[in-house]
Amino acid sequence: MVKKQFKTESKKLLEMMINSIYTHKEIFLRELISNASDACDKLHYRSLTDASVSVKREDLVIRLAADKEKRTLTVVDNGCGMTREELESNLGTIAKSGSFTFKQTEEKREDVDIIGQFGVGFYSAFMVAERVVVESRAQGAEEAWRWESAGVDGYTVEPCDKAEVGTVVTLYLKPDTEEEKYSEYLESYRLIELVKKYSDYIRYPIKMEVTEQRLKEGTDDTYETVTEDRTLNSMTPIWKRPASEVTEEEYATFYREKFFDFEAPLKVIRQKSEGGATYEALLFIPKHPPYDYYSRDFEKGLELYSSGVLIMDKCKDLLPDYFSFVRGLVDSADLSLNISREMLQHDRQLRAIAKGVERKITSELKKMLENERETYEEFYRAFGLQLKYGVYEEYGAHKDALQDLLLFVTSKEKKYVTLKEYVARMAEGQTKIYFASGETVEKIALLPQVETAVAHGYEVLYLTDDVDEFALQMLREYDGKPFANVCTDTEGLSTDEDKESVKTENEKNEEILKFVKDSIGDAAHAVRFTKGLGDHPVCLTTEGALSLGMEKVLNRMPGEHGAKAQTVLEINMDHPIAGKTKILWAQACLISGVAVENAAEVAEAVCRHLAE
Ligand code: ADP
Repeated sequence: MVKKQFKTESKKLLEMMINSIYTHKEIFLRELISNASDACDKLHYRSLTDASVSVKREDLVIRLAADKEKRTLTVVDNGCGMTREELESNLGTIAKSGSFTFKQTEEKREDVDIIGQFGVGFYSAFMVAERVVVESRAQGAEEAWRWESAGVDGYTVEPCDKAEVGTVVTLYLKPDTEEEKYSEYLESYRLIELVKKYSDYIRYPIKMEVTEQRLKEGTDDTYETVTEDRTLNSMTPIWKRPASEVTEEEYATFYREKFFDFEAPLKVIRQKSEGGATYEALLFIPKHPPYDYYSRDFEKGLELYSSGVLIMDKCKDLLPDYFSFVRGLVDSADLSLNISREMLQHDRQLRAIAKGVERKITSELKKMLENERETYEEFYRAFGLQLKYGVYEEYGAHKDALQDLLLFVTSKEKKYVTLKEYVARMAEGQTKIYFASGETVEKIALLPQVETAVAHGYEVLYLTDDVDEFALQMLREYDGKPFANVCTDTEGLSTDEDKESVKTENEKNEEILKFVKDSIGDAAHAVRFTKGLGDHPVCLTTEGALSLGMEKVLNRMPGEHGAKAQTVLEINMDHPIAGKTKILWAQACLISGVAVENAAEVAEAVCRHLAE
């Protein structure tokens, strides 16, 4: 028999498969089952359009069989089958898959990614088999053909006997090695597991004869061997069933098993999109972040299915970082068949889906905030931080979508408030949204400036997360109201009259302040008198864009140690300490033989001090 040669590209792919070090070789079964399912689809479709083809959908079936003695695994279908020419052109060449660029695959790593994420079709059988035989009879054909190959040195095609239309793919498994136990693919439990994992939602039954030891009915210690013809796949995915028919419990079970959570999800989101991109999404918001959520190991992503066949475990492009906590899956018929080979061209499709998914999550969260406040607050306690990072990231590109999802604790009550609610209840004459940052809510509440703002009747947002101030800086304003740090932007916190008297006091005591400033050194950028601090003698404020809170955060980051806020020591001019400062100044002047300018004022301060 003449051995025919594979086309160059096919040969390369085949070589890559045979020598693959890929650790998830198991995906070969998914690939063969998908092909079988496609063949059933094609035949069924023909029966709808061609009166001479009579096949009932319910008769189409895929069958697995393992023979431990012969070391073979077969995948059988009664789909459309292949003619001799089709066997040769479909299996002898992958010319049609030209977009599978071999330039990319020179790097071992990328091979691995391509195999893992998208599979490489029929040739993946060579990852586990040393010899592959395909016997096929095309619908409408008189004869059947047998294609056989043991790898790169070529393949043969010869006539064979096969009564029914369809295809039988037989894999002669490679011998086991230290690292690889190919014989696992002869074990029923393993095949059942693989079908469940990758092909559970194939629309045709995947059947196998399963022999098991089972407890004999009516006894509790006698076993019997039972052989039954079992359907391994559940066929209808939960996300394809009408939403009204799926119970909360079913979703919860599905979620827990699939995403290894011990708790039910906080929220289930279903989406069916038929606009630009056609897809179905089933999404879950967990109750708690997974243990590794805030670590480098955490990988975001949704499962990606093409008409019920899993093609990617964690498609990260489907989720923006700020929604990385969402688990779930997307199923799109648009991605079928071609995505494996033309993934790059389909990038646009994937992006369209990602946009749709993102919009859906945003609108669902907004709805939850409006209608289920308590659930939303539970969500926010778990994942609010991620939303704030989202506001800050990419120079605030997503702030419009996210700003209404933010919650803050404020000086008013120990309850979460949205920016919208804050603005709606702003005090009369208040033009800014005030905030203060610190380690804890308790510490912030004790800040003199916070007390001042609160005394004015202003509500103050309490910021305790590192990212908070940076996020607000990105937002800049909400509903036309700028954000103002009570420790930096004190402008709106005093009357014109107060401002005037503070100004005069500072001008009058310029030298004293310089004296204090000099004695502190560079630690303070400036020293000045202020008013309205109540009982507090002093406070620190800052000038410029960087607040003290931000300085701390920046300096905690690796490699960043130069951040310096411009601090201002403000001394309460109405506090006794101010008088003492003046006395100290006079003292210094006297020692240096410099005339004390406002001697009367100093004398009075001394007296008052003595009298206390
Ligand atoms: P893909 O399925 O992505 O097109 P494959 O390498 O898996 O690529 O298969 C190549 C072609 O071989 C398929 O497109 C199909 O036409 C044909 N084929 C493979 N398996 C079968 C089968 N079981 N029945 C009919 N045709 C098949």
